[in-house]
Amino acid sequence: MTGATHLLAGAAVYSVARTRTKLDGTTRAAPLALALAFTSHFLLDAALHFELSLPWQYALAAAAGLFIFQVARQAGDKYLLLGGIAGALPDAICASGASQAFIRLHAFFHFKPVFHVPFQMLCLEFAIALLLACLLARNELASPLPTPERKHY
Ligand SMILES: [Zn+2]
Repeated sequence: MTGATHLLAGAAVYSVARTRTKLDGTTRAAPLALALAFTSHFLLDAALHFELSLPWQYALAAAAGLFIFQVARQAGDKYLLLGGIAGALPDAICASGASQAFIRLHAFFHFKPVFHVPFQMLCLEFAIALLLACLLARNELASPLPTPERKHY
């Protein structure tokens, strides 16, 4: 799964958890929402997907990160970007080599291709990423943080 999809999924999970819980759409839901965003990574990695090369991964992740940053700025929710980062964090932990146990856990959940994954799966992933971006923007901009918590940065 691309880092961009993980970023968008993490931010979307955070956004839905913040705005659709009984916590009045404030950031009081942030710890739970960030944990759910982190967990979303393993669910997405378990799905059949096409693996892109690292340069494409970085370029798409940068674009997704800028999009999330812009939505977070407009909604006044600094945790939204953290939600995206939480969604992509397991890959960063694995790339850092910080924990062999975590790498094994990540590999346990990750899809294992035993056949050639068709390129069309990448198109499907892009469609899903686009839907996540639309959901994220619509959800956040329809439920900006209440004024006292809202900060412009
Ligand atoms: Zn992963």
